[in-house]
Amino acid sequence: MKLLNTLKNFSHTHPDTLVYLSPTEEITYGELWRQSEQVAAFLLKLNNEKHIPVIVYGHMDASTIGSFLGCVKAGISYIPIDTSIPFERIAKIIASSQAEWVINASGQELAVNNFSVSVANYDKILADQVSDVPVDQSNWVSGEENFYIIYTSGSTGNPKGVQISANNLQSFVNWMVEDFPIKENLRFLNQAPYSFDLSVMDLYPALACGGTIFAITKEMIAKPKLLFEALEKSRTQVWTSTPSFVQMCLMDPSFTDKLLPELRVFLFCGEILPVAICRQLMNRFSNARIFNTYGPTEATVAVTSIEVTAELLETYSNLPIGKPKGDTKILLVDENGLAVDHGEKGEMIIVGPSVSKGYLGQQELTEKNFFHYEGEQAYRTGDAAYIDQDGLIFYKGRIDFQIKLHGYRMELEEIECHIANCKYVKSAAVIPVYQNDKIDYLLAAIIPTNHDFEKEYQLTSAIKKELSAFLPAYMIPRKFSYYEDLPLTPNGKMDRNKCKEMVHQ
Ligand code: AMP
Repeated sequence: MKLLNTLKNFSHTHPDTLVYLSPTEEITYGELWRQSEQVAAFLLKLNNEKHIPVIVYGHMDASTIGSFLGCVKAGISYIPIDTSIPFERIAKIIASSQAEWVINASGQELAVNNFSVSVANYDKILADQVSDVPVDQSNWVSGEENFYIIYTSGSTGNPKGVQISANNLQSFVNWMVEDFPIKENLRFLNQAPYSFDLSVMDLYPALACGGTIFAITKEMIAKPKLLFEALEKSRTQVWTSTPSFVQMCLMDPSFTDKLLPELRVFLFCGEILPVAICRQLMNRFSNARIFNTYGPTEATVAVTSIEVTAELLETYSNLPIGKPKGDTKILLVDENGLAVDHGEKGEMIIVGPSVSKGYLGQQELTEKNFFHYEGEQAYRTGDAAYIDQDGLIFYKGRIDFQIKLHGYRMELEEIECHIANCKYVKSAAVIPVYQNDKIDYLLAAIIPTNHDFEKEYQLTSAIKKELSAFLPAYMIPRKFSYYEDLPLTPNGKMDRNKCKEMVHQ
């Protein structure tokens, strides 16, 4: 695979160049390559001939990246799981992927006694020095073999694993390196944890061009003072984040080019990029270029892009998501799958080499969402859009109940399913509450079972506690309201629109 070859060559010609740094550690290309060789040698000794994916449990540490690279050099795909993911959810991912091994790169204890997996600690793998012989390149993941599998929210209540092959990733990386001002030796900000595919937007382009990754940890996100101190030292040149994250940074007046004097490129993906954010960025970072990119995890991070110029901001109050990358087509279809007339709104279908082969072990769901179109892989996004006379694509929201909250993707049905399973809940609807066209928070409208709590807040905290075992914190609704009845549709399903009206009364 070209990406791994480039990385190998760079690690040998520039072993002392920094590849990864955080406030607590830094590591060079040479050392990262060496560590990942040890991980690969360890995995090869396990004789995992079935190529079962390996889970990598970790946060924003070099050991997490070393584990990823070790897996793919041993010909095995990895499943990144951030340390913020609750254990019950990890259990579901283990069951659905049938993973047999977890590499624990977190440096913390991982209590998986009840799971049928073996755990190898990263530090122990390195200390054991399995082999000094370089891993044979013929082992590396290549072509249509899976490179990574990222689990994302599923409407049935279970997360689904999106399989991304070496070819998918290479198509994405080629585009990033060729079509964006991403050149050699730049310093990349890494905001998204590795269990979200936005992290792929900085990680692999950086590795493909000898860049250095500066990682933001969850401790920094929780304490803005730490974040700003770290940013000041970061020398960031390429910024990748969700619009929500940069909006949070913009709330601090010191977020300017004085803090980040070398910043030249802002890359955004994952949710609507508001005009107001771009205007503020242009005022505060006069030397930086801004790009809006769009794409789902299922098509490897992003497939369309546009540079946001002052002229674009003058022309549009809702920014376009741009045009597809050179090797990709976007079709717009109606509910019968037929192409819509030019300028009409339709569902976006992505066709091209970065479209995933489907969800791991979920044939039915894969067949529902993926198909072949003129010999290429195609994905039904569930996103509505229209294309204007200049060929620019405009995002027009979802056609289902998938949402983005503070940049995180989630299915309302998955949250409802977990709330409905809680001890004190008979049934529930989860309703997004908007402020200025953007979801501000989620509200859970609940019919409770009989209970002995005196106060509603006690009931709420009991339900939230139960939920926290299954759902990551960002998926747990902020507000809970209790009702004797919730409106149903004639066919007995929760009537979300009527629920919405009810909670807004
Ligand atoms: P994820 O798989 O987490 O990257 O989420 C993919 C979804 O995020 C897409 O299907 C869209 O609904 C939304 N999305 C991604 N990029 C953009 C964008 N630039 N503008 C609006 N929505 C976006």
